[in-house]
Amino acid sequence: MRGAMLCARRLGGLRARLGARQVSTSWSPVGAAFNVRPQGRRLDLFGERQGLFGVPTLRAPEGFRVAQERALRRTEQLVARACSLPPGPQTVLLFDELSDALCRVADLADFVRIAHPEAAFREAAEEACRSIGTAVEKLNTNVELYQSLQKLLADERLANSLDPETRRVAELFLFDFEISGIHLDNDKRRRAVDLNVKILDLSSTFLMGTNLPVKAEKHLLPERVWHHFEVAGDHVVVDGLRAEAPDDLVREAAYKIFLYPNAGQLKCLEELLSNRDLLAKLVGYESFSHRALQGTMARSPETVMQFLEKLSDKLSERTMKDFEMMRGMKMKLNPQNSELMPWDPPYYSSLIRAERSSVEPGAYGPFFSLGACMDGLDVLLGRLLGVSLRVQQPAPGEVWAQDVRKLAVVHESEGLLGYIYCDFFQRADKPHQDCHFTIRGGRVREDGSYQLPVVVLMLNLPQPSRDSPTLLTPGMMENLFHEMGHAMHSMLGRTRYQHVTGTRCPTDFAEVPSILMEYFAADYRVVQQFARHYQTGQSLPRSMVSRLCESKKVCAAADMQLQVFYAALDQLYHGPHPRGRCTTDVLRATQERFYGLPYVPGTAWQLRFSHLVGYGAKYYSYLMSRAVASMVWRECFLQDPFNRAAGERYRREMLAHGGGKEPLLMVEGEPREPLSRASSAPLVLLLALAGKLFAVPSAQSSLGRDEALAVHSLCTRIHCVHITRSFSHLFTWAISGFSFPNLTNTPLGNTTSPQHLCREMAIGYNVSFGLKNASLFPVGKPCCAPVRNSKAWGGVLPIEQSEPNLVFLVTCHRTCFPVSRSGSFLGVFTDILTVE
Ligand SMILES: [Zn+2]
Repeated sequence: MRGAMLCARRLGGLRARLGARQVSTSWSPVGAAFNVRPQGRRLDLFGERQGLFGVPTLRAPEGFRVAQERALRRTEQLVARACSLPPGPQTVLLFDELSDALCRVADLADFVRIAHPEAAFREAAEEACRSIGTAVEKLNTNVELYQSLQKLLADERLANSLDPETRRVAELFLFDFEISGIHLDNDKRRRAVDLNVKILDLSSTFLMGTNLPVKAEKHLLPERVWHHFEVAGDHVVVDGLRAEAPDDLVREAAYKIFLYPNAGQLKCLEELLSNRDLLAKLVGYESFSHRALQGTMARSPETVMQFLEKLSDKLSERTMKDFEMMRGMKMKLNPQNSELMPWDPPYYSSLIRAERSSVEPGAYGPFFSLGACMDGLDVLLGRLLGVSLRVQQPAPGEVWAQDVRKLAVVHESEGLLGYIYCDFFQRADKPHQDCHFTIRGGRVREDGSYQLPVVVLMLNLPQPSRDSPTLLTPGMMENLFHEMGHAMHSMLGRTRYQHVTGTRCPTDFAEVPSILMEYFAADYRVVQQFARHYQTGQSLPRSMVSRLCESKKVCAAADMQLQVFYAALDQLYHGPHPRGRCTTDVLRATQERFYGLPYVPGTAWQLRFSHLVGYGAKYYSYLMSRAVASMVWRECFLQDPFNRAAGERYRREMLAHGGGKEPLLMVEGEPREPLSRASSAPLVLLLALAGKLFAVPSAQSSLGRDEALAVHSLCTRIHCVHITRSFSHLFTWAISGFSFPNLTNTPLGNTTSPQHLCREMAIGYNVSFGLKNASLFPVGKPCCAPVRNSKAWGGVLPIEQSEPNLVFLVTCHRTCFPVSRSGSFLGVFTDILTVE
């Protein structure tokens, strides 16, 4: 079917030209559907009308009340059942169903509340959100309900009998409960509730303050900049940083005025941070950051800081070069005042970028018609994952705006996977954000059938015009791919519980699938497949794609360095209290350490840092997701972006689990000769562990149980070792009880000690390991049970909980192993990020 149907527009008015030139700009059905205006789809008011998203009650705004009441009644029944049932796996199922009943209404309403064009629908949805929110608050303080779950996890035998996914979900639910202090005595619980309320208030006050315009007396500014701001009597009103203004003075004035410390906002932030700290301590954590990082990929504030420091070190040289380049540009344009200041980078880097790329962004548009891009996604997903996107005609009433398209996502052997509603076009009152909404999570129903996931992708693309389809800029195209990455996470996840469906995973993993899609969008082999001129069918010239990629690299280090600074600031603010310094002092020190441009006295940027509210202690997430996505790209797709085996593995090991598995990564490598780079992953891990091992006198006892499990699981799966250069020793890791039972047919050389091995590798030998049937394995509590009884350890390994040092299992893309020198695997992790 693919490619069989011609673009309808082409069949119409342009037939003559088409015939003469023999070019066929043929789109797949998906491409065609997105390149034509929907026609003859007037909202049919009298026909068989369905409700929004096919939910029958949602034909009219009043339906939200019905849906919400139904959900609340169902909740009551489920709560009663959960409380009366003896604790077991069934408890977790009931919790998930309970959560599903509420989320199905709340998530849908949450979307409709902001996206529906009709006020009546928006208001009804808002009301539904509120009442379900209240119900959830109540449930969170239902001690009986909490105890039914707590009993399950407290009973070691019962807890160990749960499969890893069920156990993880149970723990996540328990964690949600304990945030509100339900496990505390009455006094403390009341205090936790108070703190939560206070934090909520402070958060919204702070958020409001981050946008507040600042008035300054006009005479303080040179007259020539007045007209860049709103003038009110004797004052100018500054409502933003004017980061792109060409006049240096305008940017400087905006920076200094907009960031002038507001005493109220300063106090609000201090209070917010100290209340968060109090709450975290009350419910049993060392700091707010410790609490926020529970269950994330990074796991602890120490790891995050380590990650940021390493990343910053790796970046600093390139950042300096970027700053140098910007300074040069400033010197050229403004020789009297060429010192680079914090208000300069956005403007000068965009100048440099424009100078370098020499292709005007508009030139890409005709090659990136929306239909072509959708076509590209369809082809890519088909070849990589066996998935196709099929356009379906929504029933009357099913969608909220006429131009919303509905896609069924169909797998070649598994059939229908779920639905994506594409709300792509601008319209009045639509929020200006590109994002992915989960409307319904996937889960196994009680009768064994699978509840298919439903999501919405929201973009803000221009409407097609009369004579052309919607044409995307490169940035819009990248965003489309990005959002589709989220959608695929939702569609391809096959979790038993909706609580961990698709994108409902730790924050620092959530952007991995979407950022990975950006790599595809920037790869010529992929772009070439779909970027065709919508009129002529001509392919996008390779040089234009490479110039695009080049221009993205311009000043990228400086951009990332700024993000590192913000992330570090977020960590420090949410770290141990009391800090003994005000937030501005912390900002100044952190800016000096992590950014490289001077702090400007009399400013307080942190007061505009709105993400402190939503991302508290997790602002690093994007950087870390990026690091992981970059690793996946290099290990799995760089060589061949259409590699089906790699795509399947990616699905099996990452997407399929949603948030149901700890996203610690390990990329599989099949044994073959010679071994690929992908199989050096275990080496990195082993070296990291070795570094830890040999740093202390008693090697064995220094291994935490997670690490012990990791090494054990690794060793048993290593099937061959491939050694290049003159390093011909094969080692046995005898001393710590590590052995490689499956290591056969590898030429044995001199046995060497692990210390020796590490030293050799540190100086640049290339050793790879081959793993058989390796897969991502969670290094977490759920899978420790087998080790507990394992004879392999001779009973000497301490299995008790120890600090989980092992956080990332990463693969190495090069043959350098800086990791063994420092004993830290994070070195490699950041390498990957900065080598791009
Ligand atoms: Zn995203």
